Amino acid sequence: MTVGRFAPSPSGRIHLGNILCCLLAWLSARQKGGNIVLRIEDLDSARCPRRYADQMIEDLLWLGLDWDHGPKVSGPDEPYFQSQRTGIYQAALDQLEALELVYPCFCTRAELHAASAPHREDGQAVYAGTCRQLTPAQQAERARLRPPALRLRVTDREFPFIDGHMGYYVENLERDCGDFLLRRSDGKFAYQLAVVVDDAAMGVTEVVRGADLLSSTPRQLYLYQLLGLTPPTFFHFPLLLSPDGRRLSKRDADAGLDSLRGQVTAEALLGRLAQLAGFHPSGAPSTAEGLLEEFSWEKVPREDIRLPARLFA
Ligand code: GLU
Repeated sequence: MTVGRFAPSPSGRIHLGNILCCLLAWLSARQKGGNIVLRIEDLDSARCPRRYADQMIEDLLWLGLDWDHGPKVSGPDEPYFQSQRTGIYQAALDQLEALELVYPCFCTRAELHAASAPHREDGQAVYAGTCRQLTPAQQAERARLRPPALRLRVTDREFPFIDGHMGYYVENLERDCGDFLLRRSDGKFAYQLAVVVDDAAMGVTEVVRGADLLSSTPRQLYLYQLLGLTPPTFFHFPLLLSPDGRRLSKRDADAGLDSLRGQVTAEALLGRLAQLAGFHPSGAPSTAEGLLEEFSWEKVPREDIRLPARLFA
């Protein structure tokens, strides 16, 4: 059975990009008769206070995008808030430590920057491996000064996969990424580890998310392999850009539900988003259910979608 998911990070009010993500995840899974899990990705608890999550849940209900397991409806894999799942991530970390692939990293932000490793296309630096070779004595000495982050050793290997929408994608983790974080120095688990552990634990079979996360997928595939878990199918969709061509963020008030909910109905919003995403030419108001027949991944563009200056006439 297909299991899709919504995995929003409640660091502010959801914007059109988050809504499109949930709509596509919903349609893709429901079209196959599948279930949806809602998981709140609030690992960074300082940036994701509970009231934002509550608002997000309420916004999804207003939109009519329902889920089968998650907050409000319960389910077999509780809790559905990442901030409450630390024990599960620790168990996965222990498993990776037993493989001797984890090491402490003492680099400060400034040091990471100064190591000036080449930058990837998405602007992230490739970790230079500064702390990879520290001896146990050096590690102990540095640990007295600051708590370390934990990194996973990667290998000189290609991680190719076929994205359900974007097609073939490959990265060599050593060349294109470097050893990556599993836990931050403040003790918070990193997104890459948590998302893999949770999608597997919750039986997710398809992941639908923005193309900004395409380059995270090889890292996640590596983790699936090391942890002996089966990866889902991935569908990455193009990003929504603001009318002036920037990436949409939670700070774009016009695209946030704060202002939109007062102006339009949920059906008008879904109909317009479906039109922008290429599978609902009329743009007429519609429930999510009403879009099931028209939706297909082939109709969704692969290039970023720029929002018009006025969303509604
Ligand atoms: N929580 C992430 C976000 O809101 C999504 C992670 C994912 O879909 O893998 O950007």
